[in-house]
Amino acid sequence: MKYLIRAAIVLALSLAATTLSAQFFQRSRTGKPAVFEFLDVGQGDSILIRSPEGKTALIDAGTSTHVVQTLKRLGISSLDLVVVSHHHSDHYGGMHAVIEQFHPKYFLASNRSHTTSLYLKLLKEVRDQGIQTIYPTERARKIELGSLVLTVFPQPPEDKKEENNNSIGIRVDDGAVSLLLTGDSEETERQWWIQTCPNLIRNAQILKLAHHGSRNGTDAHWLDLVKPEVAVASVGTGNDYGHPHRETLSLLASYRIPLKRTDESGTVTIESDGRRWQLLPSQVADRPEPEEHRKRTRRPSRAAEDEPVESRRR
Ligand SMILES: [Zn+2]
Repeated sequence: MKYLIRAAIVLALSLAATTLSAQFFQRSRTGKPAVFEFLDVGQGDSILIRSPEGKTALIDAGTSTHVVQTLKRLGISSLDLVVVSHHHSDHYGGMHAVIEQFHPKYFLASNRSHTTSLYLKLLKEVRDQGIQTIYPTERARKIELGSLVLTVFPQPPEDKKEENNNSIGIRVDDGAVSLLLTGDSEETERQWWIQTCPNLIRNAQILKLAHHGSRNGTDAHWLDLVKPEVAVASVGTGNDYGHPHRETLSLLASYRIPLKRTDESGTVTIESDGRRWQLLPSQVADRPEPEEHRKRTRRPSRAAEDEPVESRRR
């Protein structure tokens, strides 16, 4: 435990560029926005966060190594922090290649027991490179990424039956603008967070829909608390799961929350100046070739993978 606390302090010191009170000074100095990019990785998640000072974090890495080219095209040459939200390959599939290529300083993962040979290989790469590994704890913990503050949610007791419910939750605060990322968390985990840390959930303008817009990733109670102004679904074209589900689309429509989808828009880019956010024009032109995109969207055969891409439950 002492080790973890020390790691947290080291992390905060290393990533910190400034205190919150100095944020607006720094913002005017850099003149740059914070950028949140929901990368088009087919059916999977990968979210790139850039602070105004150029600090970078990648939350998940999609299913394949394709994400490396995407990051290079976006001008990324190194990463400060990488996160695996949970142990399903539509979230960590490309992470081994990302780590090989970008040598992140910190690796945040859940330390839950569900595993695969591919995931163990990823952990070995993290160890071999000497990357500092950090875990969520029973209490919320803060990571400063330049002037952005990432708050890692408290981790609920392990769900041994449903790995989605072991997802890491993160709130990203850029001054008055907040982004909520909760992996593939289903109702059980979200309810636990609502009970345990409601203030981390309240009032986030930008919501990444949990579990790719599945009906078990969003509900009215969640939206009542989050009060998002925009929702983003990271989904592959024609995916086998039917994500995003009709029920989620209806719910968002009833709340008049606009939805951006990576299967329709390609990478979804949102900028923040610490007071307001704005959606940048669609980058569909940057999408992979249709044939390659279809390949990455298809569910891999059981022979090729030693686990389902994610829970078969819809
Ligand atoms: Zn997933």
